[in-house]
Amino acid sequence: MCAANDHHKPGLLLSVLRNKCPRCRRGDMFTYKNPYDLKRMMKMPETCPVCGQPFEIEVGFYYGTGFVSYALAVAVSVASFIAWKVIIGMSLQDSRLFWWLGVNALLLLVLQPVLMRLSRAIWIYFFVYYDPGWREVPAGAPERTNEKLKNDW
Ligand SMILES: [Zn+2]
Repeated sequence: MCAANDHHKPGLLLSVLRNKCPRCRRGDMFTYKNPYDLKRMMKMPETCPVCGQPFEIEVGFYYGTGFVSYALAVAVSVASFIAWKVIIGMSLQDSRLFWWLGVNALLLLVLQPVLMRLSRAIWIYFFVYYDPGWREVPAGAPERTNEKLKNDW
């Protein structure tokens, strides 16, 4: 990656989807690329490898991802419901509704690692914004953190 002479601002949506740092939108938020490497999938570097933005900006920061994760699960369910209704159809006279429930549960289970990472990315994007001067200005230090509680997830 050639970040040094690349001055464009990467798009918000793609940066979130690719789990990039909210401040420079270039560094990876997660240490390992593969979300299905289940033992290590939530491992994050302490700071962004490109701009130095801390990823755990306060104690218990990622507890808030629960709200985001819930919203994402609802969104996936609504989307799968609509797709099911259009493609397969829904009726109270047969068991198609229950098939959708089962398939949707399976879908959520399979997507879980991706949704968990996405939730963290969306959550931190609420609090840390893109900084056009990320090359020159050092990232701010977190206001309050606790060494003992770091990465305690
Ligand atoms: Zn960064």
